Amino acid sequence: MPSTLIANGRVIDPSQSMDRVTNLLVVDGRITAYDAPADAAAEVIDARGRIVAPGLIDMHVHLREPGFEEAETIESGTAAAVAGGFTSVACMPNTDPPIDSQGTVEFVRQAAAQKGHCNVFVVACVSKNREGQQLSEIGQLVEAGAVAFSDDGSPVADAELMRRALEYCIMFDKPVMNHCEVRELSQRGVMHEGLVSLVLGLPAIPAAAEDVMISRDISLAEATGGRLHLMHLSTLNGVEALRRAKLRGVRVTAEAAPHHFSLTDESLRSFDSNFKMNPPLRGREHVDAIIAGLSDGTIDVIASDHAPHAKEKKMLELDQSPFGIVGLETSLGLVVSRLIEPGHLDWPAALAKMTVNPAKILGIPKGTLRIGADADITIIDPTARWRVDPAKFRSKSTNTPYAGWELTGRAEVVLVAGRIELDRATHDCVDRRL
Ligand SMILES: [Zn+2]
Ligand SMILES: [Zn+2]
Repeated sequence: MPSTLIANGRVIDPSQSMDRVTNLLVVDGRITAYDAPADAAAEVIDARGRIVAPGLIDMHVHLREPGFEEAETIESGTAAAVAGGFTSVACMPNTDPPIDSQGTVEFVRQAAAQKGHCNVFVVACVSKNREGQQLSEIGQLVEAGAVAFSDDGSPVADAELMRRALEYCIMFDKPVMNHCEVRELSQRGVMHEGLVSLVLGLPAIPAAAEDVMISRDISLAEATGGRLHLMHLSTLNGVEALRRAKLRGVRVTAEAAPHHFSLTDESLRSFDSNFKMNPPLRGREHVDAIIAGLSDGTIDVIASDHAPHAKEKKMLELDQSPFGIVGLETSLGLVVSRLIEPGHLDWPAALAKMTVNPAKILGIPKGTLRIGADADITIIDPTARWRVDPAKFRSKSTNTPYAGWELTGRAEVVLVAGRIELDRATHDCVDRRL
């Protein structure tokens, strides 16, 4: 049986409250033992000075296949995930066709099993054809393997549909993930409404467009007892509403994206469409609230909202270009550089938001290094300094606002079910381009 010893690493596994230096043994794709002797396995990975974490999970990723393969495929998106340290992603259903049928769920799962570099969990549509009219066949989609429901790209605008989705999903213990945006308020806005949008004279999206739907959804979750997950939370009042809802015992969780804790609307002064995303980059007080929410545990998860777009689309003028940026390959570096290094989060708290917390929300048996678990492992160099070079991305798209940034912290070795999918030191694995 194939065996690997990960020697002398600092194992941080928030699922077991573990943080200690040990030898971790992997046999036949599973975590088999701690404190294993140095000669326990044929293959040894020296993890001295490194952090050995459960394989990272990004629960908000757009893989674009089927339908938008010029921007990303299941193959390229999962390669980007592994390069960023992720061993599992949850993919969004705003594909073409949208993931609203058993057949499409099965297509994505099979393509991922055949061509994927990491595990792919499918999020299916809340509404048929993602049109916001009729509830999708939730039961059948769960049967096909869907782990959660979302119309992301669009909000679930109809409150009654949202109420029924939350209610119906209780039966399957699945979360409804909503992209909170009241379109009557956001209209044709391209950036956050504030002083900068006023100065630039650009049509703007008020924070209230997000706040109003967050409040609505929290009320609906409270009324139904359903499980609500707030996607890409970006506003001060949103964090406040979430904090209060949690205190009342509402079943609500939330994620924040790295761009919402590392950039402000000031970036739009460049008129560069790589700073255009939805929700938009907010003002400083919102960014500070997101950081505070991550810091005090109000925000459960860090997820990238990896949204690749073909170059010709992102080259368009700011008002014509699509929303969204790629995020898988910069997420960990931004967490280390912008949250851990400045002291907003310690390593165990940061890793919890990228491992056990998303696993719990999605109800997937991942995000842990318990004995017997799949050997999905991310070995991180916490001090590696590196420069973001989009030319080296494994993603098919390069729409990032972080080109040229110097970041700290990087995944060096990634194992998926015991198989080495990334090894920067030897270049002898799938990752030959890095
Ligand atoms: Zn969204
Ligand atoms: Zn999204």
